[in-house]
Amino acid sequence: MSKLTKTALITGGSRGIGRACAVRLAKSGYQVYVTYVSSPEPALETCKMVEQSGGKASAFALDIGDYQAIVDFFKEKIKDQVFLDVLVNNAGQTKDGLLVRMSQEQWQQIINVNLNGSFFCLQQAAKIMMRQKTGRIINISSVTAQSGNPGQANYTAAKAGLIGLTKTAAQELAPRNITVNAVAPGFIETDMTASLNDEVKEKYQSMIPLKRFGSAEDIAETVAFLASPEASYITGQVLSINGGMYM
Ligand code: NAP
Repeated sequence: MSKLTKTALITGGSRGIGRACAVRLAKSGYQVYVTYVSSPEPALETCKMVEQSGGKASAFALDIGDYQAIVDFFKEKIKDQVFLDVLVNNAGQTKDGLLVRMSQEQWQQIINVNLNGSFFCLQQAAKIMMRQKTGRIINISSVTAQSGNPGQANYTAAKAGLIGLTKTAAQELAPRNITVNAVAPGFIETDMTASLNDEVKEKYQSMIPLKRFGSAEDIAETVAFLASPEASYITGQVLSINGGMYM
């Protein structure tokens, strides 16, 4: 790939919201880089979907819970290789449990992947974008960061941390023409929510004024907007895409 190829990097682009972001950003003309952690097949399927609609995509294994892996990835695949226009910090995990029963491992794993991993990707991207004097960083937070959610102390703390990180990074990076925003999805139909039982899903649906769950594409449209020239004066914001739901 050419050093000047405009590139959008989407962590966790193998499934769900990340995949939809990859397909949508490719339609905006970016070469997309997607990362995955479990198995390559879904990520390769994302690449196929992008290529079928005329775009370019590449998939990379990257555990964002591993600091050194992040540093190596940016050094080997991004820095001096591509023009990094957009980073979507999307990769995320849940490991729910009531807080009094939450193990140290359960807490640390979710903070490590959702918050630490996003920070270290943002840090690496910022160094490259500062030299470029332009860039867009979009952090995928959650409605639960704004409202809390019983059983998700680890996840909500990590996602709320991402909002604080977004606001600080926006101020530090603005002088280099880099915008940093967060998107806070509500209940979106992906693998992450597929395992919830019908009773829980009905409870959530009853709390959504628009009376439907969101789609990954709903989030991807917002991400594409934040990456677009039309959003160049928006930074440090949290866009809630939740059908009006506040738990
Ligand atoms: P998903 O379908 O479960 O997909 C998660 C993605 O993250 C996958 O691509 C997965 O890669 C990747 N991932 C997980 N752990 C990783 C790690 N340690 N290193 C690198 N990649 C990792 O989830 P989703 O619903 O699309 O969620 C995407 C983002 O939106 C997450 O940050 C999530 O917290 C947030 N969000 C989702 C909802 C919702 O209702 N779905 C609501 C609010 C916020 P593999 O395929 O390789 O496992």
